[in-house]
Amino acid sequence: MREIIFLEPVFKSMIWGGNKLKTDFGFDIPSERTGECWAISAHKNGDCLIKNGRYNGKTLSWLWENHREEFGSARGEVFPLLVKIIDARDDLSIQVHPDDEYARLNENGALGKTECWYILDCEEDSEIVIGHNARDKQELKDMIAKGHWQELIRVRKIKKGDFFQIEPGTVHAIKKGTVILETQQNSDITYRLYDYERLDNGKQRELHIDKSIEVIRCPHVDAIAENETTVYENYSMKELIHCGYYTVRKLDIHGEQVFIQEESFLNMSVISGSGIIDGHEIKKGDCFLLPSEYGSYRLAGNMELIISYQS
Ligand code: ZN
Repeated sequence: MREIIFLEPVFKSMIWGGNKLKTDFGFDIPSERTGECWAISAHKNGDCLIKNGRYNGKTLSWLWENHREEFGSARGEVFPLLVKIIDARDDLSIQVHPDDEYARLNENGALGKTECWYILDCEEDSEIVIGHNARDKQELKDMIAKGHWQELIRVRKIKKGDFFQIEPGTVHAIKKGTVILETQQNSDITYRLYDYERLDNGKQRELHIDKSIEVIRCPHVDAIAENETTVYENYSMKELIHCGYYTVRKLDIHGEQVFIQEESFLNMSVISGSGIIDGHEIKKGDCFLLPSEYGSYRLAGNMELIISYQS
């Protein structure tokens, strides 16, 4: 008999972080500059503790190492996905991630990073950085050398509910006033390209210009996200992305519905409202995992969830 695996999030203080993880989500955050909640994570830099059932007190990475049967046929040496909730009170640095091959060769065998963002909330006229305007690597190098950041960086307006897929090699940054749910490969490798000349404790944070130039794709091409919603009587399901690493969907439930968990595992994050899953009360901010062969589950209430699994 498989059990739902509820997880204790790990919080990260960041110079750009805020307090919305407390004010919006009710989390007990470590500081008024809390930038990230690692909600479903088995990464060594933030390994979630299991807070219920027979594995109570163990970490998600321990479960992956010792009870792989809970993850069915999931592939990888490490638990493959990482789900974060990010509160950006200020702009994040402009960054880029390597792909698997570059990371394997240059970062001690680490994974590259494909990630995607669901905009949970943002202030009016909020913006985000995705892409750049250089036609080729030479132009990219020239613009970086001359500090022509305004011309180089592509900024676009966002609104609540928008969704973006960020492929490796894509210049990107979350900007101030934005709260997002990020689903990504289980990797923590980021190259910082530009940090707005900001100071952290009197000095600029380290940049990784050479590695950034190596991995940035030129010219930039926007990734195509899915956008298909299927509406039923008690719920609607929107496919946000299906790529080689993950499939992410948004589920809106209003009433009661039985589903079947047929994936190797299913990540679930409640992003609004409250309800019940198989007798467990759940509310906004709760993140948990349905293991392999969990079978049917019943959701009841009025809530929105982001769900994801390894594709
Ligand atoms: Zn990123």
